[in-house]
Amino acid sequence: MNGKSLAQYEEVVGSVAVSQLRQLADNLVGAKVVHVNSTKEGGGVAEILHWLIPLMNDLGLDASWEVVEGHNSYFNVTKSFHNGLQGNPVALTESMTETYEQTVAENADRLRPLLEDADYVFIHDPQPAFLLNLCGNRRGKWIWRCHPDVSHPYRKVWNYLKKIVANYDASVFSMPHFAQSLPHAQFIIAPSIDPLSEKNRDLRAREVENTLARFGISPDLPVLTQISRFDRFKDPIGVIEAFNLLNSTVDAQLVLAGGGATDDPEGEAVYQEVLQAAKGNDRIFILQLPSDAHRTINALQRASAIVIQKSLQEGFGLTVTEAMWKGKPVIGGNVGGIRLQIHNHHTGFLVDSPEGAALRIRELLRKPERMKAIGKTARRFVRDNFLLTRHLREYLTLMLGFRHGLENDLIRV
Ligand code: UDP
Repeated sequence: MNGKSLAQYEEVVGSVAVSQLRQLADNLVGAKVVHVNSTKEGGGVAEILHWLIPLMNDLGLDASWEVVEGHNSYFNVTKSFHNGLQGNPVALTESMTETYEQTVAENADRLRPLLEDADYVFIHDPQPAFLLNLCGNRRGKWIWRCHPDVSHPYRKVWNYLKKIVANYDASVFSMPHFAQSLPHAQFIIAPSIDPLSEKNRDLRAREVENTLARFGISPDLPVLTQISRFDRFKDPIGVIEAFNLLNSTVDAQLVLAGGGATDDPEGEAVYQEVLQAAKGNDRIFILQLPSDAHRTINALQRASAIVIQKSLQEGFGLTVTEAMWKGKPVIGGNVGGIRLQIHNHHTGFLVDSPEGAALRIRELLRKPERMKAIGKTARRFVRDNFLLTRHLREYLTLMLGFRHGLENDLIRV
C-alpha cells in the first residue's frame, strides 16, 4: 500500500477538492468497506486498490482489501470469462463453472465473516462475483464493479454471469455504453490514477536516462512505448506491425514493456508470440518487467516521445492516463475507455489499424511542437478528470446514495 495521506494531494488537486472529500466522508465515518479482487499485483484494478484503501481509511472509513485465491484451473476459467465479457467466443462448460464456483466457495469459507459484517462490499470483476451467493447473512450493500468493456459480451458467458451479478444491489461500469440490462442501479465511474505514486510522481532526468541505459535503449533516437500486460487485447503484435511500417521513413525505437498479473495465465504465451514477431529487429525492445517495476515504467513513459496503447478492446486503459499525465501524446486504439481519454487530435490520436498508428507516429515525429501541445492538453485533461480525488468522491457519493434510500427512490421512479 502506498500509505499516503489525503493532505499530500492538496498540492496537486487543491485544498478545496480535499476538503470536499472530508465533508462527504464525515457521513461515512466508521463504515466497514471491503474491496475484493483477484490479484495484488498486475493490471489496473490492483493499481487502483493500492491507493484507494489507504485513502478511504484516512477519511475515517474502515476499509480493507481481500484477494480471492485459486489454482491455474480457476484462473484459466476466469480469463475465459474476461475474454468472453470483452466479446470473444470462448468455451463455457459445466466443469468450468464448477471449478469457478468451487474455488469461490473455498474463498468464501475464509472471507465470509468479514464480508457478511461489512456495510459495503465492492466486488471487482467476475473472479470473486460468486461470493455474493455464498454470503446469505450479509447485512451490507454489495456492489459489482465491472472493469472490462462489456458492451458486446459473448452471450453464453454473459448469460451465466448475469444470473450471478443480477443479485447485487448495484453495479459500476467505466462508461455509459458498457451498462447492461440488470435489475438494479448502475453507476458510471471512470477509473483514475494516483499522481503521487511511484508510477506517476515526477522523476529526475538522471533516473530516466539511467533507465534507458539499463536496457540498452539509445537516448538519441525517439522512443515509442507501449506498456501492457502481454495480452492479445492489447495488440502488441499490431504495434510491431505499425513500427515495421515506419522503418524506412523514421528513425525510432520501439519498447514493449510489461509483466504478468497473477490472475492472467495467458501472459507467457503472448510474450513468446511477441518475441517471435520482434525477432531480428534490434530497434525493438521487449522488456519483461517484475510486478513492482513502477519506477521503471514511470521512467520509460517519461523517456518516450510518443506512447502507444493500441488495444483492440479496453475497459479504460490506465496506461493511457499515466502517459497523458506525463504530458505525452498518446496514440490509442479507438475502443472502449481509451475513447473517454483521447479526444482525437486534441488529447492524442485514436487509430483503428497498424497503418493508422504508423501514419500518426510519422506525422507527430515530424512536428515536435504539435507533440508538445497535445501533451500539454492531455495533462490538463487528466488533471481535471482522471485523478484519484474525483474517483474517490464518486465512490463516497455512491455509498451515501445507499445510506439515503437510493433503492427506495429507484423503486418510486
Ligand atoms: N502495469 C504494470 N506493470 C506491467 C504492465 C502494466 O505495473 O508490466 C500497470 C500499468 O502501468 C497500469 C496497469 O498496470 O497502471 C494496467 O492498467 P490498464 O487499465 O492499462 O490495463 P489492464 O492491465 O487493467 O487491462
